[in-house]
Amino acid sequence: MKIVQLAAEFAPFAKAGGLGEVIVGLSRQLTRQGNQVDVIIPKYDFIELSGIQMEIPDFKCLESGRLHANTMWKVKSEECNVHLLEARHPAGFFHRGKIYGCADDIARFIYFSRAALEYLKLRGETIDVLHLHDWHVSLCAPLVKDLFASELAIKSILLTIHNVEYQGRCKTVDLDRIGLKGNSYLTREKLQDNDPFRHPKTINLLKGGIIYADAINAVSPTYAKEILTPQFGFHLDTTLQSVKEKLTGILNGIDQMLWDPALDPYLTANYNPKGSLEGVLLAKEKNKTTLRTQFNLSPKKGPWIGAVTRLAHQKGPELIEEAASQTLQLGGVFLLLGSPSSPEMQKHFEQLKTKHASSRGILIQLNYDEALAHQIYSALDFLIVPSLYEPCGLTQMIAMRYGTIPIVHATGGLKDTVFDCENLSVPTLQRNGFVFLEPTPASMNTTLGRAVHLFRANPTQFQSLIKKALQLDFSWKKPAEEYLKLYRKIIANQAECPADLSYTKGLDPL
Ligand code: ADP
Repeated sequence: MKIVQLAAEFAPFAKAGGLGEVIVGLSRQLTRQGNQVDVIIPKYDFIELSGIQMEIPDFKCLESGRLHANTMWKVKSEECNVHLLEARHPAGFFHRGKIYGCADDIARFIYFSRAALEYLKLRGETIDVLHLHDWHVSLCAPLVKDLFASELAIKSILLTIHNVEYQGRCKTVDLDRIGLKGNSYLTREKLQDNDPFRHPKTINLLKGGIIYADAINAVSPTYAKEILTPQFGFHLDTTLQSVKEKLTGILNGIDQMLWDPALDPYLTANYNPKGSLEGVLLAKEKNKTTLRTQFNLSPKKGPWIGAVTRLAHQKGPELIEEAASQTLQLGGVFLLLGSPSSPEMQKHFEQLKTKHASSRGILIQLNYDEALAHQIYSALDFLIVPSLYEPCGLTQMIAMRYGTIPIVHATGGLKDTVFDCENLSVPTLQRNGFVFLEPTPASMNTTLGRAVHLFRANPTQFQSLIKKALQLDFSWKKPAEEYLKLYRKIIANQAECPADLSYTKGLDPL
């Protein structure tokens, strides 16, 4: 099958969170299974790669009434064919030293969407599946079906929703700039934003993907159901309801090469997840010692509990703070590696760090640090994930691969991957962690208390939990099979019923 993945991230060299890891893990597995997979991402200025080659020196993309030059580069990375689009636009769209967080993110990714399609047009091949990820490239769906309808041979389009909160809201003029007639998309059936409190002329790019793609999936079965509700749908629930026959949920995997405690270059002591438990525990202890020495942490034997996360509202920052204080009270050590999502969040956690400056029971690192993340996963006893909502969540799966037991709020993909060890209604083999039902301090603290109690009072049972976690298979094998099945289904549907937009009619009025 010929598959094109279009996204804003590709790990490890352009990663801000889980998205980049999903693109590499899925693409690597699909490639290994004999499919032709091409990944297209922007060529950010911070990317430094050996072996990168110029693929197309110069091709044009329309923006604001002018044709702008672009260069396409290619590189083989993590066994995948990655194409990097260098936009030689005067605004320096991808010369910002970061992936997201610029005032003109909309213009940057709208430009990327059209330029990527211009590149595919030049290649002139028939593509079985154009696989779009999140709002950044959602506009490709309407672009392919309308502007490029007679110029691209794309059999089907799949949109994966990694997080429905981020939707890419903009004005009609933003569509005009890259050659669409913005006003013609400003209807309830097309790209008009659903939020009644916003300006009625607001365009919603993710909605465009949802309406125009041939199929949509969310990154876990539970999240696929949750986004159909007002609580989790961020005003797109009604749109998703109206197209729910084309919505499914496929659980993410984790890339076994990026996350392999046996070969992880960042660890002091490597360990084989399938090897002896004694070897694993010994190596984890050594990795603890490294961090203890590096950060002057307490020599106490209390459990090490921690979080590796973006510090955004979604991730339950108040609960993370509460978990830190609860861990200290229970005599444990807390490690937080968090990347703040806003200056306010940065300030808040800086203050917390100052407050605990003299404590040897807590480490707070407020940046994005790949190496430290690996070291923390390998040293912790428990990883806490108190997210208010979590589309899939990778950290709980990574933790288990490193023999660290997850403590999670039962939502989205956390609900699909972690099963409470005391929940007798779940088969014993599946019980792999601790789960709390409400995202409240009371519910979380009770569960944290249960986890610490097991750690102290029943080491044998705690160790058998570690053993079970290490044996679980969170690889991309099964999810990639499910994606292939879905690809085949939508290609077959499209062959039977091409360009069917009939489901966009008859939506509920606002
Ligand atoms: P999201 O994509 O919503 O941020 P996921 O759980 O899907 O959350 O993926 C998070 C990924 O980003 C994991 O690989 C995690 O290790 C990594 N990560 C998150 N925050 C940091 C950080 N501050 N430093 C290093 N890695 C981080």
